[in-house]
Amino acid sequence: MKSKTIQILQEYFGYSEFKRGQESIIDEILSGNDVVGIMPTGAGKSLCFQIPALVLEGTAIVISPLISLMKDQVDTLNEMGIKAAFINSSLNTQEFRSITAKAQQGDYKLLYIAPERLETESFWGLLSQLDISLIAVDEAHCISEWGHDFRPSYTKIAEMIARLPKRPVVAALTATATIQVKQDIIRLLKLKKPYVQITGFDRENLYFSVEKPRKKFDFLLKYIKKNITNTGIVYCSTRKTVESVCKQLNENGISATRYHAGLTDEERIANQEAFIFDKAQVIVATNAFGMGIDKSNTRYVVHYNMPKTMENYYQEAGRSGRDGERAECILLFSAADIITNKLLIENSGNNVDRTNEYKKLQEMVDYCNTDSCLRKYILSYFGEDDSPNECGNCGSCNGNVESTDITTEAQKILSCIKRTNERFGSGIITDVLKGSGTEKLRTLGFDKLTTFGIMKEYSKETIKEIIAYLIAENFIDVKGDKYPILALNLKAYGLLKGETELCIKRVIIKETPKAKKSEHKVSNDLFEKLRGLRRVIAEEHRVPPFIIFSDTTLKDMCAKLPLTGDNMLEVSGVGKFKLEKYGDRFIELIKEYAGNSI
Ligand code: ADP
Ligand code: MG
Repeated sequence: MKSKTIQILQEYFGYSEFKRGQESIIDEILSGNDVVGIMPTGAGKSLCFQIPALVLEGTAIVISPLISLMKDQVDTLNEMGIKAAFINSSLNTQEFRSITAKAQQGDYKLLYIAPERLETESFWGLLSQLDISLIAVDEAHCISEWGHDFRPSYTKIAEMIARLPKRPVVAALTATATIQVKQDIIRLLKLKKPYVQITGFDRENLYFSVEKPRKKFDFLLKYIKKNITNTGIVYCSTRKTVESVCKQLNENGISATRYHAGLTDEERIANQEAFIFDKAQVIVATNAFGMGIDKSNTRYVVHYNMPKTMENYYQEAGRSGRDGERAECILLFSAADIITNKLLIENSGNNVDRTNEYKKLQEMVDYCNTDSCLRKYILSYFGEDDSPNECGNCGSCNGNVESTDITTEAQKILSCIKRTNERFGSGIITDVLKGSGTEKLRTLGFDKLTTFGIMKEYSKETIKEIIAYLIAENFIDVKGDKYPILALNLKAYGLLKGETELCIKRVIIKETPKAKKSEHKVSNDLFEKLRGLRRVIAEEHRVPPFIIFSDTTLKDMCAKLPLTGDNMLEVSGVGKFKLEKYGDRFIELIKEYAGNSI
């Protein structure tokens, strides 16, 4: 006899087995124990409360921080034939009434609510009338002020639980694993001796690399063209960069849309939808975009600029490959990014712990400059010290590092900065070293300096690249509140005196990274056809394509070529309900394809 949970997993969700960590969480909830589940993005946390919700009598209340998250999950559940709804500010009065009436009749297995609802007294009335099976707190880190997404209303949850006539089991889920956040979750939700499940931070399917292209845009365009059939996110640090990158991409024939806090609400929503519905291939965005975006088939995240901390980076990059299929996280690094971030720290308000911010920035810069395994760096950063030294799936493991001694060049640059009294930015310093005959340099008398033209055989880009490296390695400080000014760090003097040597490392890509073991060999042709059909159906149902079937499911169809309903049920992600709804149309397409290619 199959267990009830496995049966639900197969029938509704169409998956043959649990992912790591899911089963024990589900079992604990079903035994009536509170749980804290800390699992990385894409690990399948939703299922950990959705399956118990289906097994238990009554309605599960799911607290979720974002309207878009709730909508995606409810759409997904409804698509699988599971009764679920959400209550948040996006409903009009009529919708609200109809949903609360149905909820009172016990119609829903899952009811998603925005935490802000707990602030209104009238809502308590509704809650007390429901037969609540379980309370799931999704994105539970929002309860902690230490987390990056603190939501004051989350702190009301414990009060809500206390006021219920009968205390249901409580499950808290998040991907944020710092000890402080974990403790806050347990304390502020008043969990009772919770079972804590922490699975590793690693996202095996993500490929990480740091690139230092001379021309970022050219690199980006080439990259996107190489990935023309996929959708992805390009993060930029400023609105201005978003605007210009987006415009240039469109001029080059890429369907890109934009997202930042300077746009109207309508445009932001429309652009986000265009991306989610696979109508725009790329979304170019500031970090305002992404929280709550569960588009599982995001195949790459390119950072056009370096973010200010590793936490930000891993969270943003982690929005790719949520379906578990291979995805790429590429960071385009340049010295200007360090300067921007340093200026931001300098100009931030008085209440900021600058030392800590500089430390975090340095750790981010170190990631960009390390020649060891990038995954190892990330995992150690988040406290997992036992990961292997080489992952075989990142820019460092798949690249070859070439080391060049740049001690002499560095000394020339540093002495030039000193001779111009540490008052100028990298533009002027480069011009002096290159020996440019500009009016400005003559007016300043810099053409008389001993360092004038001592690097004339180098290109300006090379000089700037070395300056960038010296900034990254803390030989040069960046100061000034209007213009970035270069100054010597104490560390520079050792180099100037010849006490230390310096090598710059450049990564040369040896080969394209090998496909990971989980990857199927698929026919691109058929995959594209299936995607086309998925889009048509998604449009008919007004839901994002990935909610109909994930990329993983389509790839599995390509591998298994199901021609009957029973075959179709073997495909990962096809449950009974979806088989009935869409099975025939997909089978027909596969038959047609198989017929044509025999
Ligand atoms: P998280 O909330 O942990 O980031 P989700 O719950 O959004 O992750 O799930 C990520 C993806 O993994 C979804 O597409 C989901 O359908 C899929 N998934 C979940 N559980 C399984 C499973 N047991 N087998 C295969 N895929 C799964
Ligand atoms: Mg989730």
